[in-house]
Amino acid sequence: MEIITTPSEMQRWSRAHRSGAGRVGFVPTMGALHEGHLHLMRTAREHASAVAASIFVNPLQFNRRDDFDTYPRPMDDDLALCESVGIDAVYAPTAATMYPEGFETHVEPGSLGDPMEGAMRPGHFRGVTTVVTKLFNAVQPDVALFGQKDYQQLAVIRRMTIDLDMGIEIIGVPTVREPDGLALSSRNRRLTPEDRAAAVAVPVALTAALRAYRAGEASGRTLEQCATEILAAEPRARVEYVQVFDANTLVSIDRVDRPSVIAAAVWFGDVRLIDNMLLD
Ligand code: AMP
Repeated sequence: MEIITTPSEMQRWSRAHRSGAGRVGFVPTMGALHEGHLHLMRTAREHASAVAASIFVNPLQFNRRDDFDTYPRPMDDDLALCESVGIDAVYAPTAATMYPEGFETHVEPGSLGDPMEGAMRPGHFRGVTTVVTKLFNAVQPDVALFGQKDYQQLAVIRRMTIDLDMGIEIIGVPTVREPDGLALSSRNRRLTPEDRAAAVAVPVALTAALRAYRAGEASGRTLEQCATEILAAEPRARVEYVQVFDANTLVSIDRVDRPSVIAAAVWFGDVRLIDNMLLD
């Protein structure tokens, strides 16, 4: 496994692997790897002959300094995990390499970046689209994989690759969960044991809404209320939003009469968790 730290080296690696019939797969991450990331990496292998993963905690997409500062960075463990799933190259640039003095060009997301995470974390998606564009330009993948866990991010990136003619296939991968249903997240490791136990309320609440939908409830507001009430019964949870929205436009909807999603952002102590489920 090669460890690469500069865009020019990364581009050279990619060019070498794309010559002939080679297909480069790419999994961008911020590290603190867990089974969700590893699942993306294994899936990438099914779609590509060489797979690169990136590990970069992107300062541009954090709207809170403390969240950036406390984000876990277990680099040695991460490299060992990449190696264990057969990653061919890890791209791990420094912040100074990604954003040298004088850096000033950004990629601006459209309306898909406005609601939910975009509304609650100003500048977040601009940071995401900018860093993903830079990572794409360095890795030059044929196919890139993203988790449905970050549903809005996946939608924003799909749109960006189409709008900017990037010619990269984007694959969304279902959320990997703990046995009790909690979505795996690098931030879970910052939960206290009490908050970790309480955080199961998030998938429980979303599942309750999904069940209500399957039982015939089609009112977006009622489904949101169903999930919100369960979260409200958990004293350690502070709900930021629970929203039912159109799976394609991400616009909040009153009637669930098309492919839709219910998503939530919930705080436990100083840790903010997000999760979602398709209403199918
Ligand atoms: P992150 O390191 O949190 O930026 O995540 C890197 C990639 O892993 C993103 O595409 C995430 O959507 C994806 N991811 C994070 N958690 C999970 C999970 N539990 N299941 C599947 N994919 C995930």
